[in-house]
Amino acid sequence: MNLNVLVCGGAGYIGAHAARWLARAGHRVTVLDNLSTGHRQAVRWGDLVEADVRDAQALRRAFTAQRYDAVMHFCALSLVGESIARPYVYYDNNVGGTLTLLQAMREAGVERLVFSSTAAVFGEPRQPLIDEDHPTAPINPYGASKLMAERMLADAGQAYGLRSVALRYFNAAGATPSGEIGESHQPETHLIPNALRAAMGNGERLRLFGNDYPTPDGTCVRDYVHVDDLAAAHLAALEYLHDHPGAHRFNLGNGQGFSVLEVVEAVRQVSGRRGLSFDWEPRRAGDPPMLVAASARARQALGWSPRHTDLCEIVASAWRWHAQPRY
Ligand code: UDP
Repeated sequence: MNLNVLVCGGAGYIGAHAARWLARAGHRVTVLDNLSTGHRQAVRWGDLVEADVRDAQALRRAFTAQRYDAVMHFCALSLVGESIARPYVYYDNNVGGTLTLLQAMREAGVERLVFSSTAAVFGEPRQPLIDEDHPTAPINPYGASKLMAERMLADAGQAYGLRSVALRYFNAAGATPSGEIGESHQPETHLIPNALRAAMGNGERLRLFGNDYPTPDGTCVRDYVHVDDLAAAHLAALEYLHDHPGAHRFNLGNGQGFSVLEVVEAVRQVSGRRGLSFDWEPRRAGDPPMLVAASARARQALGWSPRHTDLCEIVASAWRWHAQPRY
């Protein structure tokens, strides 16, 4: 069945990849984005409504202009360090924005939502693999804001019959092979793009934050999941909502952890810059030592499985994009 989907935040990194997958699956896409961190050039699969998700009037206009079957909600600020320094801005955007969107959806009678959540809702992991039953105890305002939004979805499910899936991404990485869209943040804080830029020699020197974590090589371990795999999960979640009322949560990861030093090694291999060097820096605030997903539930319920699980393949797709970024 072809659906009419409003993709809020569809000009951003993960939202644009999801928009591409939706369009390729035959769904109709409209992107709503304030372009604060997103890119106009990333909106290639449907019209752009330039609006802020916190603007109730603009949302009302968008929902009056068209009848949507579902919403995907990617609008968020997502930098851990910035969230610690500017918590009100994060709660305003990520919690306030989600509430305004939910209210507009209710008014318009739109009852299906796929929500962009994060592994940061878990805080310090208590076991090596994090499944959906792992306690949620965020250690920074970014994670807290996403957990609050998840709670709103659950309450909206109870009170108003909203159907929702919250997808908790671990570390989104890579770019679609088509080369049309990719990761472009300003400022860039993520490890893979920073390491690639350093390998290209057109950025700053690579800085690695902390080598005294309780992990095998002392650096943080993360679960890097390809952005196209995340996009595919959004499509599967949309279908899942068809016959699953209520609020659902799934962890999305590759299922394997890679340390910061392993990522640097993959970047050396992929880029051919064997001499890529770096400076050690103190730990970055708000970084848990290890975040790796147990994604069995998503595999079972959504029929989803990541296809690009090899770290070098993920890094190579990001390398192709960073070598020729379109924006
Ligand atoms: N990191 C690093 N140097 C950088 C960027 C990140 O050492 O320039 C480390 C960071 O401290 C964390 C890991 O790489 O341990 C992944 O960080 P990233 O910002 O990519 O993702 P996050 O896990 O914060 O969502």
